[in-house]
Amino acid sequence: MKLVCPLCNGLYKVDYNCIKCNEAMIDKGPEVNYLDNYSPYLLDEVTHLVDGVKNDKCVHIYQCPNCNYKERYSIERKNI
Ligand SMILES: [Zn+2]
Ligand SMILES: [Zn+2]
Repeated sequence: MKLVCPLCNGLYKVDYNCIKCNEAMIDKGPEVNYLDNYSPYLLDEVTHLVDGVKNDKCVHIYQCPNCNYKERYSIERKNI
């Protein structure tokens, strides 16, 4: 048994609708991917946080293709 994010592992999709225009939003990937682009030090801290405290959630960035509104959603990791 392993705790994994269903989105990162392609198990299934979780859909959210844009709160501004109600268009179906697109999963842009886990937030840590974006942090990695900016600061490896910050990523280190986030990784520790993920290991210690928030291990049961994977934060994904969703973006609306219609109005470009972005939102963060915590995806529950599942035991597989
Ligand atoms: Zn994920
Ligand atoms: Zn929108």
